[in-house]
Amino acid sequence: MRNSDQQPPPKVAFVYTDELSRYRLSPEHPLRPVRLRHMHDLMHLSGLFDLSNVSVAVPRRATRAEIESAHDPEYVSIVEAISNGAIAPGMGEFGLGTPDNPTRPGMYDTTALCVGTTLVAGELVLSGEADIGFAPAGGVHHHAMRRNASGFGVFNDAVIAMNAMVNAGLRVAYVDIDCHHGDGVQAGHYDSDRVLTISIHESGQWLFPGTGFVQEIGSGGGTGYSVNVPLAPYTQDADWHVAFDAVVPDLIRAFKPDVLFTQLGIDTHFQDPLTHLSLTTQGFNLAVQKLGRLGAEIGKWVAVGGGGYDLSAVARAWTMALATMANYELPDDVPGTFTSLADDSTIESEGDVPTKFADTPPPPDEHSSLDEIQQHNAHTLDEIRSLIFPKFGL
Ligand SMILES: [Zn+2]
Repeated sequence: MRNSDQQPPPKVAFVYTDELSRYRLSPEHPLRPVRLRHMHDLMHLSGLFDLSNVSVAVPRRATRAEIESAHDPEYVSIVEAISNGAIAPGMGEFGLGTPDNPTRPGMYDTTALCVGTTLVAGELVLSGEADIGFAPAGGVHHHAMRRNASGFGVFNDAVIAMNAMVNAGLRVAYVDIDCHHGDGVQAGHYDSDRVLTISIHESGQWLFPGTGFVQEIGSGGGTGYSVNVPLAPYTQDADWHVAFDAVVPDLIRAFKPDVLFTQLGIDTHFQDPLTHLSLTTQGFNLAVQKLGRLGAEIGKWVAVGGGGYDLSAVARAWTMALATMANYELPDDVPGTFTSLADDSTIESEGDVPTKFADTPPPPDEHSSLDEIQQHNAHTLDEIRSLIFPKFGL
């Protein structure tokens, strides 16, 4: 049902093509693009594409010039050559050919198309055709660096899209709620005061990529414009939101951006196999609601996906996110016709079809006490208040 609201519902452009779900990085790779097909099925069965304020847009491939706005031409050429079947002996120097970043035929094209989903989402929002652009295939490249692939990321779609926005004279606030530090995006704008990056993640003390500490605050003219919120493993919904509420709304309002750009990774989920934060889908969706309120104040909101390696959590969380963006209230139950997860022969151990969008919250973790978690996170927030807030008059 539609939420009662005096305002007209926001216009949401959903940018997607099934082409981005049809490949594998390697047989054992935890990032399974088929997750996007399950997500799309669940959105469709939930009626989200029937809403008059949701339109589906087709992406384009990012051009070479767009990709080179964020990446060294030599690195881009190596990716292109490998993609065309060439053997590149020096590819290890560029982070390629590793278990995390395997090479495969066609990788240039699928990555350029993935970047293109993010670019189109940004273009539709900047042109005013949409209030919100959502490109869930994007965002997963947030570790990619100027001269190397990293952490499943090859071409950094967020950096490329925000470069276009900055070149158009706009100031952008980037909020990354993936479980991993958004290091490639931070590096892409580290010396700029035109892009404020805020990353909330499991501390690099315990998780890849081992960065994202509070002391990384930017350099030169960008000092103070890189913000990191490293949290303790096993942080659950309530304490995650304590950190979000303490940092994100005030900093964004003080920065006064022209565009809000959010990376909505769902590998924070308690069932995610790669990470240790313990969010539920409803905890994640509450963050989307809060970001949506900030996006509505700013008037332009571009959202991308990100990590997410539990396929049920990905499908449900991003369906909930699209419903939130469209101001549409989902029922409690997942449609009974959603069976593609169970039918997916690529899933060995987690083929159970979820019955509810929301999760039953997990029990407290036996590895850490709530006190230890809260003390760690309180220390993080104290450091941010002393290092960052004064630069914004807070
Ligand atoms: Zn991640």
